[in-house]
Amino acid sequence: MTVRELIRQSEAMLDDKDKDCNVAKVLFYHLAHKEPHQLYLMMDEEVDEQLYQDFQSGMKRYLDGEPIQYIKGKETFFSRDFTVNENVLIPRYETEELVENILYRIDDYFGDYERIQLCDVGTGSGAIAISLALEEEKLNVVATDISHEALEVAKLNAQELGANVKFYQGDMLQPLIDNDMKFDIFVSNPPYIPNEQDIENVVKDNEPHIALFGGNDGLYFYRKIFASVKDVIQEKALLAFEMGFDQRALMEQAVEYYFPHTPYEIIKDINGKDRMLFIYYHLKDKL
Ligand code: GLN
Repeated sequence: MTVRELIRQSEAMLDDKDKDCNVAKVLFYHLAHKEPHQLYLMMDEEVDEQLYQDFQSGMKRYLDGEPIQYIKGKETFFSRDFTVNENVLIPRYETEELVENILYRIDDYFGDYERIQLCDVGTGSGAIAISLALEEEKLNVVATDISHEALEVAKLNAQELGANVKFYQGDMLQPLIDNDMKFDIFVSNPPYIPNEQDIENVVKDNEPHIALFGGNDGLYFYRKIFASVKDVIQEKALLAFEMGFDQRALMEQAVEYYFPHTPYEIIKDINGKDRMLFIYYHLKDKL
């Protein structure tokens, strides 16, 4: 069978089952180690037996409901390829915006710092921590996760991408408190989906629930962080979080309770949804 025939046949099957047709090419590029433009030059070549088998087994997993990112074992985040598996959340586009917005604020508020201490709590695949470490050389980056399995993935990513990040295992802020660390920038994308919220099957059936669900109203981990974060930040600090698009009112209440008179802002993602929270702790008087 030629590459063209295999792709055509698979696209038709995906279409029949109302699945994303692009997956056929995406999976093929990945398994054949080709770039999209190279695929067109090999359309009339025969597909070798091993590649054919691997392709069919990947397609079967996809049709059975697994995300393509876990099948490939990779997802691109901030222009770099991260290893992912079922022990970590798949990095999302929205989270690239969080990274970008943190980088802007580093320039705005920490321009005159020689070194900046930053932590990422609940790092998962390490996407946020590693991207920041590679994008801003003034940063010393520490990342934590409660999951040993997630930390294995994050450490592998740091090594493969050449990022200098220190990893600690433990629950939320505990490893930071135990090691008496203080940060200029505190970052977290904690689990924030309310426990009873209906989410897409492909997410619910495959991604780690420990990385998704944040208690009855989704704010469990933010409140936990807000309650003790002052123990691990400097006198002046930036706190940066990803949040759920429907959490603005609850989040404002929580921030105003734990950080009275502290300027903060909630920023929308490119889809116009509330997505990021920045708290300017002693960094400026008002917004
Ligand atoms: N944005 C993710 C989703 O909607 C959730 C990420 C999180 O809980 N931190 O699937």
